[in-house]
Amino acid sequence: MQRRLVILRVLLLLPLATAMTPMTAATPDAAPDTASAPIIIAHRGASAYLPEHTLEAKAMAHAMGADFLEQDVVLTRDAQAIVLHDLYLEDITNVARRYPDRARADGRWYAIDFSLAEIRGLRLHERLDPATGQPVFPERFPPDSDLFRIHTLEEELNLIRGLNRSTGRAAGIYVELKHPAWHIAEGQDPIPVLMRELDRAGYRGPEDRVYIQCFEPDTLKRLRDEIRTRIPLIQLIGENAWSPDLPVDFDRMRTPEGLAAVAEYARGIGPWIGQIHQGLDEAGAHRITRLVADAHAAGLLVHPYTLRRDALPEGFADFDALLRFFLVDQGVDGVFTDHPDLVVRLTRGLIGQDQPE
Ligand code: CA
Repeated sequence: MQRRLVILRVLLLLPLATAMTPMTAATPDAAPDTASAPIIIAHRGASAYLPEHTLEAKAMAHAMGADFLEQDVVLTRDAQAIVLHDLYLEDITNVARRYPDRARADGRWYAIDFSLAEIRGLRLHERLDPATGQPVFPERFPPDSDLFRIHTLEEELNLIRGLNRSTGRAAGIYVELKHPAWHIAEGQDPIPVLMRELDRAGYRGPEDRVYIQCFEPDTLKRLRDEIRTRIPLIQLIGENAWSPDLPVDFDRMRTPEGLAAVAEYARGIGPWIGQIHQGLDEAGAHRITRLVADAHAAGLLVHPYTLRRDALPEGFADFDALLRFFLVDQGVDGVFTDHPDLVVRLTRGLIGQDQPE
């Protein structure tokens, strides 16, 4: 922790990246009550280098020095918690070829329609764009390998426990419940399944280095009020257009009043980066919202998603400029990234600059 605080101090002393045009960023009105350095969250693992949510991608992220490894959780037909980003399987596996007759009417192969044994038999690959059949990120791991499988949450927690022990470095976990309302409508409640897994693996409170994230406020409120978990909760914030069926107004949630309501049950928010930085205006200046400042004023941590070197938003010349904007200028409390090594390297590099030869 001592070292991380030094990193943060050095970060804060440095000027903004010269590659960026002048900023008109809001300064946070009040910092959250934790004075620790920003955390590096490996988004689905080191997913810039290995297919997302593979054990290989998690091991690589651990070795790269990520502070937290992310798990997305959905259930199988036999109520097993697996680590998978989508409700369906066809964008990252060979399910369509293996089980051509088991898509639903919407043309999708849902994980909840398959047993764990069936899902274990699938080959997992780099994410493909369903419209084109081509990789979403063309420079990443080739999609035609036969190497990877989907695994359970229990297996991933075992891997992390083992790596924490063998390396002596305590990486935390950052678990997302995917579409719990949808699961419940399908007859499966993912909340008790998740909480049983976490309890069995010893994740019970903030001292165990664990967060639970979800887009659905009702789920987080239930975890806080009914399950009475001590695990810190993160309210993910999307766009209303992404999930028109969800009874939540993300526009209102981003207002100071909405954020105050979130602070009643959550420790922080996970907005997407476009809710903080909205590109450039006609004069070429950065368009920056007050979201980070307002969330900090409400006492909330801010962990935006997702920083990728190969998908830079408008207005940033390179990945370092993007990182400096969020970590230094905006002062966020953590970042989800596909490139944990580059975030670690940047912060360590900054220390190196500050020290005599
Ligand atoms: Ca996620």
